[in-house]
Amino acid sequence: MNKILIFFFILISSCTTTTLKTDSEVTRKQFVLLPEFMALSMANQGYQEAKQKAQESNQLNQDVFMLNEIRKISYRLIDEVRYFRPDAAKWNWEINLQTSDQINAYCMPGGKIMVFTGLLDKAAKTNDEIAAVIGHEIAHALREHGRERMSTALVQQLGILGFAIYISDSTNNRQLQNAAIQGVALGTTLFFALPNSREQEREADKIGLELSARSGYNPLAAVSLWRKMDELNSSEPPEILSTHPSNDSRINDLKVHAEKIMYLYEENKARFNP
Ligand SMILES: [Zn+2]
Repeated sequence: MNKILIFFFILISSCTTTTLKTDSEVTRKQFVLLPEFMALSMANQGYQEAKQKAQESNQLNQDVFMLNEIRKISYRLIDEVRYFRPDAAKWNWEINLQTSDQINAYCMPGGKIMVFTGLLDKAAKTNDEIAAVIGHEIAHALREHGRERMSTALVQQLGILGFAIYISDSTNNRQLQNAAIQGVALGTTLFFALPNSREQEREADKIGLELSARSGYNPLAAVSLWRKMDELNSSEPPEILSTHPSNDSRINDLKVHAEKIMYLYEENKARFNP
């Protein structure tokens, strides 16, 4: 096939939206050039390595009580992901707890969640607040923000035409392999190194709040939680703030949207607290 045609085909097919339109009305078209299976395999590899490192230093799932708590909260949220994308309900979800002073949590593509005990000790004190952080991180995975960031970075590195040629030219295997190897190494690094864009953060906030509300967790807890993060920032900057903004305008937006979505919480809370 003509390479120019392939180039346009890739461009068009890589502009998509990863989640369904729900009450939060997140509908932005996204640029996801990197194939989903590649993003998932990079994420899986990165997550297994993180778990193994934690295991070797006796930091993995040491606090069994808290591990069970965060798993219960996470699974309640995961039960509602079908509203945003039905396929995510069948993801191979994993939730683990790392003993560390870090005020942090993440959810890698495909549903690989890590919560750090520092987050629970110093910021997220109630179940609603824990749900606010985990829900926000799950929202990033549902929207495939990691894959989006990796796609942008790959294009910057290889050039879009180069990328088109490398995935279309199957006769040149060595080049293909080299690029793929480079890509994997790059991908996991980028997942942690590149901050989310402001727009991605707004989307994760909206979807996260809706996810909380649908799971019967008070979405207003996100407001108290991020306010605490903001206060901690002057004494002990939370690691999560290196990839997430926290400022008055974001906290204001959270409050406005939490109030907008409150009816979903009212509808659902009785299911969990009869
Ligand atoms: Zn975020």
